[in-house]
Amino acid sequence: MTPLLLEDRYGRVATDLRVSLTDRCNLRCSYCMPPEGLDWLPDDSVLTDDEVVRLIGIGAAHLGIQEVRFTGGEPLVRRGLVDIVRRTRELGPDLDISVTTNALGLSRNAEALKAAGLDRVNVSLDTARADTFHRITRRDRFHDVVAGLEAAQRAGLGPVKVNAVLLRGENDDQAPELLAWCLERGYELRFIEQMPLDAQHGWSREGMITADEIFASLATVFDLTPAEEPRGSAPAELFTVDGGPGTVGVIASVTRPFCGDCDRVRLTADGQVRNCLFARSESDLRGALRAGASDEELAERWVVAMRGKAAGHGIDDPSFLQPDRPMSAIGG
Ligand code: SAM
Ligand code: SF4
Repeated sequence: MTPLLLEDRYGRVATDLRVSLTDRCNLRCSYCMPPEGLDWLPDDSVLTDDEVVRLIGIGAAHLGIQEVRFTGGEPLVRRGLVDIVRRTRELGPDLDISVTTNALGLSRNAEALKAAGLDRVNVSLDTARADTFHRITRRDRFHDVVAGLEAAQRAGLGPVKVNAVLLRGENDDQAPELLAWCLERGYELRFIEQMPLDAQHGWSREGMITADEIFASLATVFDLTPAEEPRGSAPAELFTVDGGPGTVGVIASVTRPFCGDCDRVRLTADGQVRNCLFARSESDLRGALRAGASDEELAERWVVAMRGKAAGHGIDDPSFLQPDRPMSAIGG
């Protein structure tokens, strides 16, 4: 089969595939889902391990996918995760394979994931305080996350990155403290602006902490200088802290969008291609796959799905509508 590219009308080519392995989660981060959780996808609509691996294989072999990031929901709650990673590694020795996780249970799995061929983990942690963690995630599991982070580093799943979201009145005064905590442990911290992707539709522009506010708060304690490396399609604006070698990233998804450089495509746990986090429509690969489509047919559907990618997320447009699915169901 002739190799194809996942290219959109604006010339952007997707090479970074985010694969959601489940929409379920064992935390309830307030900016992501309500305390009672969500109506989870029915089991039979979720792609099986074989189906996930087949679609990743099509992406890697025929569509120019170079990076695969497993996410969710919480990917560690997917029973087959280690095996899916191992089979993905078999598909492509050169693929960059990572997992975005809340790290609950990672202390038990880090070694197995490394042995299976995982390169790196990104761990979501919004605070270095157990009580704040409990309030934000509605679960008293801070120490499990810390153990997961330590295990990931010991297993060589590095550089270990930590993703944090700041919430007004909750942890927005803790940015320097979290950075100091991460620097001490050798974790690369990146703050992400809160986006309108929560299931409860609780986001507001006034409520969100902007990249400028994050920077100002960090600058009260640290000397930050823009890092030399070009930003490229990596969304984080990177700063060297106190002359280095430590760094901190700020991902200004809302106030300084990087849609023009986007190289991502998403596959949801139920087999839908999404060409953007904020897309208002999806393309069904699962139906075609289960109806017996060939690899070539699936690849062609995927290519068509990318053509419709919008120029930008449009959060600032008066006509902006939050996508029907929340972040946890799309795959963050
Ligand atoms: N459960 C895993 C985790 O938390 O890392 C993976 C899925 S989670 C949806 C992926 C990332 O999305 C996390 O870093 C989380 O902080 C972030 N996230 C969730 N809701 C968000 C929102 N409304 N705005 C910005 N980031 C959000
Ligand atoms: Fe779960 Fe991740 Fe959402 Fe938190 S951000 S509730 S860990 S899916």
